[in-house]
Amino acid sequence: MSKSHFQSTQNKLLSWYEIHGRKDLPWRNTENVYHVYVSEVMLQQTQVKRVLEEYYFQFLEKFPSLFALAQAPLEEVFGMWSGLGYYRRAKNLHASAKLCVDGLPQDLKSLQKLPGVGRYTASAICSFGYAQCVSVVDTNIARVLARYFGEEDVKEAFLWELADGFLNSSNPTSHNLALMDLGAMVCLPKSPTCEVCPLNEACQGSSEPDKYYKTQKKNYENKKLHFGVCVKDGKIAMKRSHKGMYKDMLELPNIESSFYEKNLLGTFAHAVTRYRLEVHVYSLNSTPEDVTWVAYETLHEAGISSMTKKALKLYNGVKISAEGVQN
Ligand code: SF4
Repeated sequence: MSKSHFQSTQNKLLSWYEIHGRKDLPWRNTENVYHVYVSEVMLQQTQVKRVLEEYYFQFLEKFPSLFALAQAPLEEVFGMWSGLGYYRRAKNLHASAKLCVDGLPQDLKSLQKLPGVGRYTASAICSFGYAQCVSVVDTNIARVLARYFGEEDVKEAFLWELADGFLNSSNPTSHNLALMDLGAMVCLPKSPTCEVCPLNEACQGSSEPDKYYKTQKKNYENKKLHFGVCVKDGKIAMKRSHKGMYKDMLELPNIESSFYEKNLLGTFAHAVTRYRLEVHVYSLNSTPEDVTWVAYETLHEAGISSMTKKALKLYNGVKISAEGVQN
């Protein structure tokens, strides 16, 4: 492709973004790099709508700066993250804030030394937060690039090379955002709408888009979990998880189910990361070992997972009293 043709494609992409791009998203209208960072971490596994409506503003109101976040106990951070899932993100965000209370680093290399910050997040911070001339590759951009350049089974490192080569140095931030939106709105995983795509003319993959983007099949793991509910004097017995996806969070005590079969409150299905869980919840007459007693009314502030919330709903369906569970 000639240089002028290349530039014309880049310009078409920017013109498309001007009209159709999601330019009003709050994290695209701030010069506060911390806000950009928070949004990027939240958006890693969660849809824009949910982040926007339930988490982004609330989190920033509670922790308006890196300093405020660093000062807060981890439990409070989990509390604001409650229901968003992938709690390691909140823990890493908190740990990073402690490492750089006065401001985030301004280069890719240093940013990638922060907990949980990989190449994508570092690039996003540099591009969207600091307006630097760096390329960004997320899932949406990867799909657009693979199709546009007609590359099958392309490796991640090569995608970054493609992104670097395609970067519009006269307006790199909008260029990256445009590619991101194009992937989210036009160059969809299934049935891309090539007829309205600004890259259509030069796109190598528009005749067979599926060939250049293959969704990877997820391998799910089934697990059964058994939790017990023990409430006394308005306090509930909880345990701090020391491993796994809920590490450092409070959860209901894990129990040996065979002892409590008669006390089964109910079961529910729960999906989290690669796990498909069948969760059984029991009422306990005796107190499990090594528990932390937490006032039942303040439990939500301690940051509990959606799975624990579901388990407590089962329990609430039975009865809460100051003496404990009453069947
Ligand atoms: S023309 Fe089609 S396949 Fe190519 S980038 Fe646009 S939407 Fe994707």
